[in-house]
Amino acid sequence: MAVTIDYSKLRILSDPDTREWWAATRQRKYLVRRCDKCGHKWFPPGIPACSKCMSMDIGWFETAGTGVIHSYVVVVQPIVGAFIESVPYVVAIIELDDCKEKDGTVTRVAGVLTNDESEVAIGLPCKVLFEPTSDPNIVMPRWQVSGTARETWRFNE
Ligand SMILES: [Zn+2]
Repeated sequence: MAVTIDYSKLRILSDPDTREWWAATRQRKYLVRRCDKCGHKWFPPGIPACSKCMSMDIGWFETAGTGVIHSYVVVVQPIVGAFIESVPYVVAIIELDDCKEKDGTVTRVAGVLTNDESEVAIGLPCKVLFEPTSDPNIVMPRWQVSGTARETWRFNE
């Protein structure tokens, strides 16, 4: 069963670090920060310099919006009142397929899944989708399990 979250109960504002990111989500694009000097990628975008080479010459990388669930947590206690009718929902840490670097660094992002807990397991592939909200300036990325995997693991196993 798809988990619905009503973002109209929150006021989401962009800031100088996230303005371009929110503009991209309105175009159904999922961006991560990229160092234009060494290619390192990271998320969230609030860090103004590359953690590998310290360059402040940074830009964006448009990911394909696919990845693998690295870990997850089931939120049963809403952290803000706006989500009181949305629990339980699953927040996953997702390893992005196209953000793997030669030294083994992998960019991981947090995302709220549309799937309920029974459909989620570590190791499953997932993809981003974009949900319009009541605010035309905010299109919210969500993630959805997109297939199966040979080896998976759940917290209840
Ligand atoms: Zn760098």
